[in-house]
Amino acid sequence: MDLFEYQARDVFEKHGVPVLGGIVATTPDEARAAAEKLGGGGVVVVKAQVKTGGRGKAGGVKVAKTPQEAYDHAAAILGMDIKGHTVHRVMIAEGADIAEEFYFSVLLDRANRSYLAMASVEGGMEIEILAVERPEALARIEVDPTVGIDAAKAAEIVAAAGFDADIAEDIADVFTKLWTVYQAEDATLVEVNPLVRTGAGKIVALDGKVSLDENASFRHPDHAELEDASAVDPLEAKAAENDLNYVKLDGSVGIIGNGAGLVMSTLDVVALAGEKHGGVTPANFLDIGGGASAAVMAAGLDVILGDAQVKSVFVNVFGGITACDEVANGIVKALEILGDEASKPLVVRLDGNNVEEGRRILAEAAHPLVTLAETMDGGADKAAELANA
Ligand code: GDP
Ligand code: MN
Repeated sequence: MDLFEYQARDVFEKHGVPVLGGIVATTPDEARAAAEKLGGGGVVVVKAQVKTGGRGKAGGVKVAKTPQEAYDHAAAILGMDIKGHTVHRVMIAEGADIAEEFYFSVLLDRANRSYLAMASVEGGMEIEILAVERPEALARIEVDPTVGIDAAKAAEIVAAAGFDADIAEDIADVFTKLWTVYQAEDATLVEVNPLVRTGAGKIVALDGKVSLDENASFRHPDHAELEDASAVDPLEAKAAENDLNYVKLDGSVGIIGNGAGLVMSTLDVVALAGEKHGGVTPANFLDIGGGASAAVMAAGLDVILGDAQVKSVFVNVFGGITACDEVANGIVKALEILGDEASKPLVVRLDGNNVEEGRRILAEAAHPLVTLAETMDGGADKAAELANA
């Protein structure tokens, strides 16, 4: 999960990283009030809060000398489109008197199964451009995950990037604090661009990008409130509440399977079959996992049938630990639970453990919406045909 800049600012502050005051505003009036409160009538910066970089270049970062100017800039920036992201809020930040701009990041380096710290005394500009045009200006230092950025590692990064001796110690101190953010919050990225030296010689993190590892969210109940509720797909939210692995896609054939591999290949088979049936494609990925009880099946069907784009559903289950008769009972009970809400045709293909009994149960129930398929290809073809009907 990526954080907004104002959230990154708050997290930085919590861990002692030097930041400037910032207040979020969703209207120009709030922006003016925030400017009065923060700047005491002095200089503030109005910054678009969108989860993409290059806001400055796009006109989403503007210096305001008076609260009225903050109002005007907020009025211009709110509603602006920056690389496909609509600006719904701005941060009013205390103005900084910038003497120098630097760059720092620490991130998960999957390819090397390690962490990587990057730093440059040439911050401010887009780091992707710096990395290509002047790679020698960007120090890259591997960070041992079991040690992290301690004082020695911070000094190594500072030296590699070539910071001036008079600020080396302060910069190193900020790097160790940014490492604390990375580790304590279970982040996969902490980036500061620019990290600045002010005219008065203070080091301040002026812009922050933080990505949190959602696999660690069980350790951080407080991270839930950082989620941007307006950006979450309601069906994905419902699936998450039921612990289902669900990803919404654009097509019209709902998919339910057990095991991520089987579901992935079901998507492929349905997409292929769809080519013969008006180009229909899968509507989602949904893995109900190993122990597919009736309740889990009902929750899964409920999510899929709640998708207005879905025209048919393909249930593709290979009985293993959970035998096919249990899955079949799950489907029958799920359809009972859903009642009239189940209104779209279901193609069911069962194979594996206790398949005969599973098929017998579905045949006996003879639900009008359910069609049994012998094979995965056959089921995919039937589901695609029904979606195109
Ligand atoms: P980004 O373009 O999305 O990375 O947004 P930043 O927050 O990094 O801002 C872009 C640029 O605006 C910075 O590199 C600074 O040069 C400038 N800027 C941001 N905040 C201030 C500030 O408080 N005072 C001044 N003078 N410039 C600022
Ligand atoms: Mn920036």
